[in-house]
Amino acid sequence: MERLWTPWRMEYIKRVERLEGCIFCDLPARAEAEDRASLILARRKLAFVIMNKFPYNSGHVMVAPFRHTADYADLTAEEHGQVDSLVARCIEGLRATMAPHGFNIGVNMGAAAGAGIADHVHVHVVPRWSGDTNFMTTVGEVKVLPQALDETWAGLAPYLK
Ligand SMILES: [Zn+2]
Repeated sequence: MERLWTPWRMEYIKRVERLEGCIFCDLPARAEAEDRASLILARRKLAFVIMNKFPYNSGHVMVAPFRHTADYADLTAEEHGQVDSLVARCIEGLRATMAPHGFNIGVNMGAAAGAGIADHVHVHVVPRWSGDTNFMTTVGEVKVLPQALDETWAGLAPYLK
């Protein structure tokens, strides 16, 4: 992945270090009525989609199994199927709402590979625009505003039903 300059990620790393528990377990364990506040976009039986509160880029979402496991190879065929189909729906929703020029899709497995939360595997879907590395340097700070995240949530959620 071409490296984006994302200074707010440092705040994220500081916060993650203080966190107890696992956001990929704790947030979906809340009532579904809180999904918008939790930035959860969609749920299936075995997997769900959540927006990254400290995104690499606008529209950065993550797809994870509900089951707490660190290993992508440990997912069952049914979990893989639901994760994969949610990734596809995220691509469709992001295309329809944000018109990106491309995507980075992938798993950072293990802290050595750059995983912020290494204990619970998740697939990143990051929309990309030509020249966004320069763009994000200038306006990156704007992206973490809660209302910007909430607007993106509202735009995307209908595509993930
Ligand atoms: Zn977990």
